Formats: sequence, C-alpha cells, structure tokens
Amino acid sequence: MAKAMARRPDIGRIAKVLISFKKGDALSGRVRRTLVRTLYTQPSSMALGAATGIVSSLVAATVSGSPTMYALSLALSIVAVARVGAAFNMSPDDTGTSTRQLETWYEVGAFTYALLLGVTAATTLVLHLAESVELLMTANAIGYGVGVTSRNAGRPAIALGQLTLVFLPLFFACLYLGTLPYIVLGATILMMIPAMASITLNVFKVLRESIAAAEESSQLADKMKVLAQTDVVTNLANRAGLNHAMSETLADLPDKQKLALIWIDLDRFKEVNDLLGHPVGDRVLQEVGRRLQIVSPEKATVARFGGDEFVVFCTVEDRRESERLASEIHAEIMRSFRIDGERLEIRASLGVALLPDDAENADTLMQRADLALYHAKVNGRHQTRFFDPSMSRDLARRREIEAELRSAIQKDELSIYFQPIVDLATGRIRAFEALVRWFHPEKGEMRPGEFIPVAEETGVIVTLGNWITAQAAKACTQWPDDVTIAVNLSPLQIKAPGAALGILAALREAKLEPSRLELEVTENLFLEDSEATEAFIDDLSAQGVRFALDDFGTGYSSLGYINKYPFKKIKVDRSFVSGPDVGRKTDAIIRAVAELGARLDMDIVAEGLETIEQVEVVREAGCTLGQGFYFSRAVPDYTAAMLLSQEREEGPLRKVAGQ
Ligand code: C2E
Ligand code: MG
Ligand code: MG
Repeated sequence: MAKAMARRPDIGRIAKVLISFKKGDALSGRVRRTLVRTLYTQPSSMALGAATGIVSSLVAATVSGSPTMYALSLALSIVAVARVGAAFNMSPDDTGTSTRQLETWYEVGAFTYALLLGVTAATTLVLHLAESVELLMTANAIGYGVGVTSRNAGRPAIALGQLTLVFLPLFFACLYLGTLPYIVLGATILMMIPAMASITLNVFKVLRESIAAAEESSQLADKMKVLAQTDVVTNLANRAGLNHAMSETLADLPDKQKLALIWIDLDRFKEVNDLLGHPVGDRVLQEVGRRLQIVSPEKATVARFGGDEFVVFCTVEDRRESERLASEIHAEIMRSFRIDGERLEIRASLGVALLPDDAENADTLMQRADLALYHAKVNGRHQTRFFDPSMSRDLARRREIEAELRSAIQKDELSIYFQPIVDLATGRIRAFEALVRWFHPEKGEMRPGEFIPVAEETGVIVTLGNWITAQAAKACTQWPDDVTIAVNLSPLQIKAPGAALGILAALREAKLEPSRLELEVTENLFLEDSEATEAFIDDLSAQGVRFALDDFGTGYSSLGYINKYPFKKIKVDRSFVSGPDVGRKTDAIIRAVAELGARLDMDIVAEGLETIEQVEVVREAGCTLGQGFYFSRAVPDYTAAMLLSQEREEGPLRKVAGQ
C-alpha cells in the first residue's frame, strides 16, 4: 500500500512531463536546444544499437524461417538505417533547423523503431519460435528499452515513449501466453516502466539544472563582458568597447569603404566641473554622449574615454562623408545646453583620421586621430583638424627637441639673454627681462616659442625654469640696485611641488634681494588649480617678490585676476602696439589699461616697441614703461652690463620723445 502510494506521484510526474512536452515546456529556448542536442550527440551509440537490432532480427528470421519475422526484420532494418543516416546528417548546431523540427524527427524515428523492436520480440514469443530466438529478441528489446532511458534522458518524453512502446507489446504477449513464468515476466516488464521513468526523470532533473546553471553563468559572463566595455557615466562604449568594435569592423570591412575615427575633446571642460560641480559635469557628458549618438550614423560606435574625450568611429564612403559628419558633430556639441535652467555653452576640438588613407591598422588610426586632435588644440582649440603627414613630422621634431633639451643644459648650449625695460618718462633702464636662448650646435638658434612648449609638455620646464631663475638672479647682482630682473614663469613650473622654495633658494644663493625679482606670468596660469597658484603667489609676495601680468590682451584680459593678485605691472601684448590690428580701437584699449594702472599704482609696460612713433603713441596713451627692439634686443649679460654703464655715464640710450 505504502509502496503504491509512493509510486503514485511518480506516475503523476511522468504524466506531467509528457503533457508539458506536448505543450512545449517552460524550458528556455537555449536550455532546450542544449538538451535536444544530447539526443544527437554520439550518433555512433545509435548506430551500434541499430546494428544489434538488425543483426538480431535477421538472425531470428533466418533461424526461425518465419515470413512474419522476415517482414519485421526488413521493416526494422529500414527504420534503423534511416535513423542512423538522419542522425549523422542532421546537426543540432545547424541554425536552419528549429529545435522543434530536430525533436520531431528524432521522435518519429525513435518511436517507430521502439514499436517495431517491441513487436518483433513479442512476435517471437507469440509464434513460439525457437527458445534461443525468443531469448535473443526479448533480451534485445528489454536491453534497448533500459538503455535508451538513460541515453535520451535529456528529453524524457521521448525516452519514456520509447520505453513504453518497446515494452508494451512484450507485456501483452506475456499476458496472451498466460503461463505463470510469462505472467511474471510481463509484470516485471510493466514494473520496469515506472522504475525506469523515475530514474530518467532524476537524470533529466540533474541534467536540466546543470545546463540551466551553465546557461545562467554564461549569460552572466556575457553581461559582465558588456559592462566591462561600457562607460558608466554615459552608457557609451569605453576604450575596451571601442577596441572591440574596431577589431570587429576591421575584420569585415568591405573593399571600397573607409573607416573614420573622430576624436573629440571638450574645450575647458575642467572649468565646468570646477565651477558647477561634478554632478553637472556628468550631466554635460551624458548630454554630449546623447547628441553624438543622435548625430552619428546608426552603424557608428560612439565611445567615451575617461574625462572629456569622446570618439565616434564608423565606416564612410569617402573623405567628404567624414568631413560632413565631423562638422555635424561639432555643430551639435556647440548647440547650447540647458541644465537646471542654466544655459551652458560647450566647445570642442576634433581630430579626424581615416583608414586606409592615413593609417593601416586600428592602432595607428587612433594615433593619427589623436595627433590631429593635438594640432586642433594647439592651434587654438574649437576646430576640426584632419590628419596630414606633416603632423607626424612635427611630432618627430618635438620628440627630438625633447631628447636634446634634456642634455642641452649640461652641454652649455642654453644661455640667458636680457632685454631692457625702459622708463618712458626718462628713457632710463628700469629692468631687464630674462629670455632664454638655445644655440644648437647643428640646428642653430632655436626659438623659445618652439622649445618652451615641448619643455612644458615633458616636464623639463621645471629644471629649465629653476636654472633660468638662478642664472638671471646671478646676473642681476652685477647691476645697480635700482635695476630689477624679470623672469618668465610657465604655469607648470608653478604647480611643481616646492616651486616657491626653489625660487627663494635661487635668490639666496645669488644673494639677491627678493624685491629685485619680478615674475612674469600669463593668464593661462589662472585657468586651473587656483589653490596652488594662490599659495605660490602669496608665499613669494610675502617675501617681497613682485609679479607682472604678461601678454595682457591676448587671453581673457580679466579684471578679476588683476583685482585678486598683487600685480605690480601689466605688460600689454605687442599685438596692441605693432601689427595689422593696431588702430583706434587698440589705442583706446591701451589708454583704458594705462588709466587703470595709474589708479591702481601699477606700471603699464608696452611690449614690442620697434619705432619712435610707437614709443610716442604708448607714452602719450599713459604707459609708463616700454620694451622692444627700438631700445634693444635681448643681449648677453656682458652687453647688458655695458648698456647700463653707458647709460649711467652718457644718459638714456635712445630718446623717448620725438622732438
Ligand atoms: P614674452 O615673455 O612676451 O617675451 C617677449 C618676447 O617678445 C621675446 O621673444 C622678445 O624677444 C620679443 N620681443 C621683444 N621686443 C620685441 C619687438 O620689438 N618686436 C618683436 N617682434 N618682438 C619683440 P622670445 O625671446 O622669442 O620669447 C618668446 C616667449 O617665450 C616669451 O614671451 C615667453 O613667453 C617665452 N619665454 C622666453 N624665455 C622664457 C623663459 O626663460 N622661461 C619661460 N617660461 N618662458 C620664456
Ligand atoms: Mg615675458
Ligand atoms: Mg610678453
């Protein structure tokens, strides 16, 4: 009774499985496919089973000589051969065949074969053929039924269908024969159905769970892979994602197509972050990402590289298409943003390179676009540059300069020249500006405008700057006490740790009063990192060092900086004095700056004075000091000393008034 109770749920489960099979069970498509695949794996085991079936039935037919057996053996052989042929030909990996089709084919073959085998075995019993023939076929049929339940446990409905179809004819034959041993055999065969069903279902459960677990972890791995290739802020591809997309696109790039890589850098994005905070910065990045996706073709990959750099990568028909795309991208980024009701304008620099025109592989394509972007930035930002080979030459030259610059100081190839800064009222020298000069043994004189930026990029500027300050301070000690020395400082130098201490040490070593040193800085200095800059200026001002704002009028020309920092001098850029833009407007600007200087007790220096007329104009406009070729070019220290002694003995070097 208890046993019968225990068996009942088994039968219920079997029924459920069979029903669910017909309805299409709840297994996910991929798990189900994997399970169906187990039916088709090892077709050799099926071939072996088929061979034993064919041989046994043929032997049974020959030994018994029964025409029924011959007919059954023939039918069995045809079905067996067809099944094996199909199993070898149909592949579960072939996406053209649906899971349902694979299953149905297998089902039809398996059920027919099982039924034929069962009927053949049952016939040997019913016809009372030779005992050996009965044994051969019965053993074959029972063995097949048992074996097939474990082989096909991946699809239990099929396995149990086969089992039932092979066993039932035998069971009915036993009942028909009716003797005790046959009845016991029939009962045994019948009992084996639920027993084998239970085993099959257990194997199926384990199989299904492990396949589902494997499936889940492979899905998780896929998800992780996607995450690893995604930028969290914008949801765009990150560098890894871009690399992946690039290698995939490159692998099957049609012959006539080109690949365009557009590298975008937002101009002065750091200011957005600093002024409005990182959350707003992130929203700007998200919005830029969104716009890039909208404006780029569907096939394009849009990626964000840490910070404010984006890359759009896609196939294009020709160069013109990439030009069009770059200009659309640029216009789209420039469209003003609205964030929390605030209007915001973002500008960007773009560098573009094409494959195969500019590069032969993904790596060089990136390098070339990066180089083009670098040129866009160096040329004043807010523009698009396409790569051209001269950029590589520039890069090579910069690398060369970098290598040579490091040893130039030791080799004594560098020297400091001094250009006088003259009082426009008296014509007397009030200061000298120290200007570095590099006399290269092979290349001749190198201009600071060429090597200072390289020194800044590579960090050599710190060593170079300290050396210049030390040399300049030493030279100044040779001059009368009322003559000061002006030294140019690059923003990078100021940000280096211990920058202020380095300058004070140079002064101490040269035994120069701090008040005789004047440091010239440009507005670029104030664009970033105001804390370090403030500390630097405060520390040195407290010691008596003075500051001058250089190249005024070329940058932001912000009165804010003049108000915030203790400048003693403003140097008006030479483009206001000479050059194509000089006119009524520049004159008015100089006057306004000069008036400001007078009120704030600052000296206003006019740079780039080349003629007496220019001297007169700026003097009349209210500038107190002047500097330029009219007075003197930058000269070596001994010439500077000579100019001073000449002036002390003979009066002003050049007249400062026209009459
Ligand atoms: P700056 O500080 O504005 O220096 C003035 C530049 O104008 C110098 O060019 C000078 O030779 C040039 N100049 C002076 N008078 C005239 C004139 O009447 N007409 C014309 N056309 N030019 C005139 P230089 O020496 O080539 O230096 C260029 C820039 O390189 C400097 O501009 C400065 O920003 C930077 N620099 C030069 N020496 C140093 C240095 O020792 N350290 C750092 N950090 N920068 C330096
Ligand atoms: Mg200067
Ligand atoms: Mg200047």
